[in-house]
Amino acid sequence: MTLAPRRLLSRLRDLRARAAAPLPELVRLVAAELVSEVCSIYVQRPGDILELAATEGLNPSAVGTTRLRVGEGIVGLCAATAAVMNLPDAQNHPAFAYRPETGEDPFASLIAVPVRRSGRTLGVLVVQNRQPRHFNDQEVDDLETVAMLLAELLPAIGAAEGTTEGLGATVPRVFAGISLMTGIAIGPVVLHATRRTGIKLLADDPDAELVRLHEAAERMQRGLDTLIADVSPSGRSAEASASREVLEAYRLVAADAGWLRRVGDVIRGGLTAEAAVQRVAGEMHDRMRRIPDAYLRERLADMEDLANRLLTTLTGDEPRGEIPPGAILLARRLGPAELLDWHAAGIAGVAVEEASPAGHAAILARALDIPAVGATRGMLDTAEPGDIAVIDGDEGQLVLRPDTDVRNAYSRALEAKGQRYARWASLIGKPAVTADGTGLKLMLNVGLSMELPQLDRTGADGIGLFRTEIAMMARGAIADVAEQAAIYARALDEAGERPVLFRTLDLGADKMLPGTVVEEENPAMGWRSLRVGLDRPALLRRQLRALLLAAGGRPLSVMFPMVATVGEFRIAKNLLQAEAKRVRPTPERLTIGTMLEIPALMWQLPELLKEADFISVGSNDLMQFMFAADRGTPSLYERYDLLSQPMLDLLDQLVSAAQSAGVPVSLCGEAASRPIEAMTLAALGITSLSMPASGILPVKALLAEVDLSAFRPVLSAIRRGGMSAGSLRDPIVSWAREHGLPV
Ligand code: PEP
Ligand code: MG
Repeated sequence: MTLAPRRLLSRLRDLRARAAAPLPELVRLVAAELVSEVCSIYVQRPGDILELAATEGLNPSAVGTTRLRVGEGIVGLCAATAAVMNLPDAQNHPAFAYRPETGEDPFASLIAVPVRRSGRTLGVLVVQNRQPRHFNDQEVDDLETVAMLLAELLPAIGAAEGTTEGLGATVPRVFAGISLMTGIAIGPVVLHATRRTGIKLLADDPDAELVRLHEAAERMQRGLDTLIADVSPSGRSAEASASREVLEAYRLVAADAGWLRRVGDVIRGGLTAEAAVQRVAGEMHDRMRRIPDAYLRERLADMEDLANRLLTTLTGDEPRGEIPPGAILLARRLGPAELLDWHAAGIAGVAVEEASPAGHAAILARALDIPAVGATRGMLDTAEPGDIAVIDGDEGQLVLRPDTDVRNAYSRALEAKGQRYARWASLIGKPAVTADGTGLKLMLNVGLSMELPQLDRTGADGIGLFRTEIAMMARGAIADVAEQAAIYARALDEAGERPVLFRTLDLGADKMLPGTVVEEENPAMGWRSLRVGLDRPALLRRQLRALLLAAGGRPLSVMFPMVATVGEFRIAKNLLQAEAKRVRPTPERLTIGTMLEIPALMWQLPELLKEADFISVGSNDLMQFMFAADRGTPSLYERYDLLSQPMLDLLDQLVSAAQSAGVPVSLCGEAASRPIEAMTLAALGITSLSMPASGILPVKALLAEVDLSAFRPVLSAIRRGGMSAGSLRDPIVSWAREHGLPV
């Protein structure tokens, strides 16, 4: 009783050509081909309503009357999850919503297939039977093909009014999301063209379509090779060479034959190469939405990106026309290669409906310094090319068609920022010194080589934290010794005389390599970071060798993350020293330090300070463990603060112990980039701060105006008085304001 897909498809094609009102005919046709009693189409209306638009087998008077909310009943659930519901006994499913007017009582089984286009659900195709029946994979596949055809048909016949109508195309809208990269950009909207209409769906000759697919895949692969080769690793630009790291990972995904095989299967089912690629891209997209592992999700995003490239190759489309200057790119998803393309075309900001801060697009946006926001769902339903949009990367929101007041306010903020930067520019290259003459070292946190130019741009004093795992995440796997050595050597070359503190791999928790399955309940406190290195010493040793090779005789500083005991530090240090004996030339000076991220180390200071050459406080993790508050949960942000009595006491004790032992202390968490925190840390005696590039100049500007000798007694008094207060921020900020400091 399976569908005869080719025959059905050709009948559908005829139907599309001649029928004026094709929906009733279509449901009749599908019901007949499936030998099913019922076939219905529900269409999504504004306000997230699904309305019965055509039926064969249910009560005809229910058409236009029966309505379900998205999420309500099995049809609503199918629309909400974009997943096929294949239920032999639908009426006993917990989500079943009974609608008496349809007369559906006698029908036991139900299959609901979402009708989707450009990532949006336009409706649901439903087939019902009296007998309990479970559709097999082939039948589900065929129904999905019918749904795909429906997705083309519905807008053409005006059946899907879409969710945009009635919302008004000129009203301002604010889409709250998350910040991927700070900064503000204002400009005309350009849409990332993944929306393709009018492609031919049904193939005349599947064999010819398979040939077209393979030719296009080869052309795309060659194009990618050229794109990657153009970004030469030996080129001057470190930015370019790190793009290469991400692109190499991308090329590996492109070379994976699995998804092309799937496209081939769909073509053999009767679709054209374009339609098959689009179908498989849609499947990947839907699968991706259900994957909890963030990095695996990003890999699938790369595949979707590739599918779009392949479509462009097949259709010969120019992906875009002229880009207006300062344009704001809106995308549903964005792959790394695409972001580089758009960056080259001159966009000023990006909003991506489905993006996470750890995703490739976000990593690249930060490295390229493009204000970016993510998770701005729904924006593509209302935005039109040419609309004015504001990317507010500081607040993590997109403002579409801002009214004049809002637009002017953003323009003023942008202008003020420009002026501040112009003032700060005079500080580049000058040492960081407080008003009363305390010198500080302001260093950079770096993850990808493309961030290295920030050293010169900000005039930082060196790299205080090189997060070695980020480049591995960008390429999707741990590079071999030679490749790692090349990455580290680039950082040392670029830094020249300035120090670089390399941190060994800190994988785990929120930084996973693709394919890693986490079975721990609390991965942040699980088998991560140095723990992995100590249990897999060959992996750690390879990295240490790569670092020594990269140094090639130059001074080398290495630190270990997530150290919990002096014993762990000792083992790691021994591994490094043993490796250093084997590698020639040996570094002129080898300094070995530890991060302080786990509070337990505080009670091992006497021993630790005998063994460590330096200590770098990782305040991001240290705070999450001090306050038992997950650093990635926004609703907890108010519940902990570096400017609190426990944290300041801890740092104070650390500094005194380290000073008596003659061991330098620095701090490299995000907190160091906030001027008020930096001022307080400087008052406590932490004079080496490592931070994201955006913090260097604002911190330097504030420090230049602070008299630490006046602030220290004030800080002591605030700390003494603040035992019961969660945060001491308010009195510290008030003091700064009273003294006219730029906070
Ligand atoms: C930290 O924990 O403060 C730190 C710098 O490390 P990461 O943010 O990479 O965990
Ligand atoms: Mg950390």
